[in-house]
Amino acid sequence: MRPAILNPLFAPIAALQGVGPKFGRLIERVAGPSLIDLLWHLPSGIIDRRFAPKLAAAPEGAIVTLTLRVDEHRAPRNPRLPYKVRCSDETGVVDLVFFRVHGDYLEKALPIGRVRVVSGRIERYGDTLQMPHPDHIVPLEDVAKLPSIEPVYGLTEGLSLRVMAKAVRAALERAPELPEWHDAALLAREAWPAWRSAVLTLHRPESEASLALDTPARRRLAYDELLANQLALALVRARVRRARGRSLVGDGRLRAAVTAALPYRLTGAQARAIKEIEADLAAPARMLRLLQGDVGSGKTVVALFAMLIAVEAGAQAALMAPTEILARQHMKTLEPLAAAAGFRLVAVLGRERGRGRAEALARLADGDADIAIGTHALLEEEVAFRDLALVVIDEQHRFGVHQRLMLGAKGSAADVLVMTATPIPRTLTLTAYGDMDVSRLTERPAGRKPIETRVVPLDRLDEIVAHAKQAIAQGARIYWVCPLVEESEMVDLAAATERHAALRQSFGARVGLVHGRLKSAEKDATMAAFAAGALDILVATTVIEVGIDVPEASIIIVEHAERFGLAQLHQLRGRVGRGARQSHCVLLYAAPLGETARARLHIMRETDDGFIIAEEDLRLRGAGELLGTRQSGLPAFRLADLAAHGALLAVARDDARLVLDRDPMLGGKRGEALRLLLYLFERDAAVRLIGSG
Ligand code: ADP
Ligand code: MG
Repeated sequence: MRPAILNPLFAPIAALQGVGPKFGRLIERVAGPSLIDLLWHLPSGIIDRRFAPKLAAAPEGAIVTLTLRVDEHRAPRNPRLPYKVRCSDETGVVDLVFFRVHGDYLEKALPIGRVRVVSGRIERYGDTLQMPHPDHIVPLEDVAKLPSIEPVYGLTEGLSLRVMAKAVRAALERAPELPEWHDAALLAREAWPAWRSAVLTLHRPESEASLALDTPARRRLAYDELLANQLALALVRARVRRARGRSLVGDGRLRAAVTAALPYRLTGAQARAIKEIEADLAAPARMLRLLQGDVGSGKTVVALFAMLIAVEAGAQAALMAPTEILARQHMKTLEPLAAAAGFRLVAVLGRERGRGRAEALARLADGDADIAIGTHALLEEEVAFRDLALVVIDEQHRFGVHQRLMLGAKGSAADVLVMTATPIPRTLTLTAYGDMDVSRLTERPAGRKPIETRVVPLDRLDEIVAHAKQAIAQGARIYWVCPLVEESEMVDLAAATERHAALRQSFGARVGLVHGRLKSAEKDATMAAFAAGALDILVATTVIEVGIDVPEASIIIVEHAERFGLAQLHQLRGRVGRGARQSHCVLLYAAPLGETARARLHIMRETDDGFIIAEEDLRLRGAGELLGTRQSGLPAFRLADLAAHGALLAVARDDARLVLDRDPMLGGKRGEALRLLLYLFERDAAVRLIGSG
């Protein structure tokens, strides 16, 4: 249960004094439901009220603080029209403008003939200066009460800065002092303030510089978040490791047979990864290993060898893919090898019900099948194994940590190998997987020629079309990608449809079109026609990003490449370069290019190393936007910015490891405080793992 000291922080925002349900809902929309979310909704800017010009010198559009004499109230007859209060100084006049005025508060706040200090944004309306709804109105003697610098917050329609700022102030008042969870030496070295003081500092910026990501207060909160993340992952890992593993040692019989049946030799990187996995499997502790490899780097065969070790040792293995298409693709690749080497495969897919499925399940339960290939359908309760010893999860970023553990739970302490095709920078690997062991396939299978990448402005489209014609005459197959921008799917669809029609004009009927709105049977049929060579060009929105493998396709043309992220462009380019033919990637862009887009396209031309590209992507965009965090399954941080605070992540990892080594039950004084930290970042599930299992 969450410790009582944190309760005020998890109270609903609507419960704050002066907020209420209506504003509570609006604030919730931008910040989150509880007080703690509000505290973490950090200022996005400042308003400087120190600028106090005379009216004649007040620039339009600026925030100014004016000392004015109140001259006249002009209440409108029609209450829908604005209420104006004319004021002046020695140099000019200004109308303070108010909409929807209730009662007589303006007469009290702005009595005729008196001097008031007024702060807000100055505008011009026709010939007159106006200030609509001043932010502050105070008598001259209270001028000291005017804030000179005010924080600005992200808002939403119907929510004013004034209400937001008031809510934040109320939340700050309720924020308790919390016991320190960080190591005293670290705090001293970094000159970090205590938690509450850091929060207060960040909400009371003194200048633009206070908003920087590298202030001690901001770094402290970022580190809080990173440590909570790493500690939670370390607890999951400790839990997995605590379950007694088993030693799996194979006799090499199946691996030898598969090696003989493969039409190629393993690359050095593949052999190395298999050796690392073999050592993990032989060790008595449970394996928890991540296999990272670019698209086409040959992860499947590494997974197969790992599974064969389990089968040679008399146990079973399972391979879980994120989609049916990918699961089927794995089946298709592995079936001939199974026939040649003599191991037994079954598929467990979501769609299949009835006899075939019942039989597959029975064979897994009896041990009549050695390896199951499937989707998340493998997680269903009715899927049972006689002796599941190894679980391989492909394209991991679509599954959460939780699902990984669930499949692991089907075997008695099954070993886990996670494979990801999304090259993730090291820092991000750490946030998503924690302290997992990592094997990387950095080398391409032999015989692969590097893809030639060109960056070309869209106005040279005719030239590209002419090149494409020549290439098709020589037997090439081409992907033509039109971008999908989320907000206007229809517009994008129109663009793709239009391109399809135009290409048909120049190329004839052998041009197909796939997009997300098609029924999956239609989509499959078109993709199959392209794979079979019945179509020369496949016009596609980004639906081809995942799960299509046509080795004969050797050209990919991406329209409006400047709209894609680096990781996405890299994934798209990975669709070609899979066969013997020299492959090309043409990135068409609309000029003029922004600085970031230019840098992205430049990197694409310079390298095809997914790991370098991923690091650059992180540098250019920040982790938040990388791949879209939701899609990638990477945790979204609120306070930490991995581009700025990445170095702290490794510190957090070491810190988390050390803490759990010394105090696995988190029972000591620092341990108790660290539990608070976990609750503070809503890692309640991780707290429950402490000492369990
Ligand atoms: P990914 O890592 O993207 O899952 P795959 O395992 O699907 O890659 O492999 C991509 C292609 O490379 C497949 O057609 C596979 O047969 C082939 N391949 C894998 N390893 C080698 C190798 N060592 N030499 C040549 N081709 C290989
Ligand atoms: Mg794969």
